[in-house]
Amino acid sequence: MLLQDQVAVITGAASARGLGFATAKMFADQGAKVVIIDLDADASQAAASQLGGDHLGLAANVANEQQVNAAIEQVLAKYGRIDVLVNNAGITQPVKLMDIKRDNYDAVLDVSLRGTLLMSQAVIPTMRRQRSGSIICISSVSAQRGGGIFGGPHYSAAKAGVLGLMKAMARELGPDNVRVNAITPGLIQTDITAGKLSDEMRQSILAGIPLNRLGDASDIAGAALFLASPLSAYSTGITLDVNGGMLIH
Ligand code: NAD
Repeated sequence: MLLQDQVAVITGAASARGLGFATAKMFADQGAKVVIIDLDADASQAAASQLGGDHLGLAANVANEQQVNAAIEQVLAKYGRIDVLVNNAGITQPVKLMDIKRDNYDAVLDVSLRGTLLMSQAVIPTMRRQRSGSIICISSVSAQRGGGIFGGPHYSAAKAGVLGLMKAMARELGPDNVRVNAITPGLIQTDITAGKLSDEMRQSILAGIPLNRLGDASDIAGAALFLASPLSAYSTGITLDVNGGMLIH
């Protein structure tokens, strides 16, 4: 068991086919106590109960500081520690550059970038006190290649911002033995693109993937498990590409 009795908080993990829930399942199978944080309380609780055992489902909008802090207080009241945070909550929009309005910008940047900052700020005092912790930030290949797959330029910018924030946090938190790393998924089949990806788009994307398949949520969960566990004890500030070779650089 790679995460025996570790407490792992995962945001955006109530979506049944999503990367967060797949990660929650893999962490629970490895002995972790998992906290699912998502927008809807019932959905979070239902997802947590599907994991069996001693897990928790909470509601919070990751972009809302009060809600984030209240959720983390509940986690600490129940478990008394936090070992892993996966900043996974995110939304995307296939909007072209000149069509990005303030609302688009605010919505996408708020969840991915502000959410990553607020959630990390909420757990860092605990991790510092413990002198251990692993924070994993879900960015996107879109940050590295400048979009061109599904999300618009504001999504690429948000996810590139997540990489910068991750690296700066890694530098600052290293002396506290708190590691911070990122995963850059390629195109993974989840509800984030559900109904919005045409067969034509899918075929042209596949043509650019050496492993010749779209990703599965479990591909990301495995990478997150590596970064959460002691297997990656000497890695901080890294960007782990999980994209089937879509971007070899
Ligand atoms: P998904 O839509 O299945 O799940 C996203 C979850 O985040 C949902 O449960 C949603 O309710 C939750 N969420 C949205 N806004 C929130 C908020 N403000 N506060 C709390 N929770 C919120 O999507 P997914 O494909 O599993 O994506 C997970 C992460 O991976 C996202 O950050 C996404 O940008 C990133 N990503 C996905 C892909 C892909 O191809 N699926 C590729 C690269 C990166």
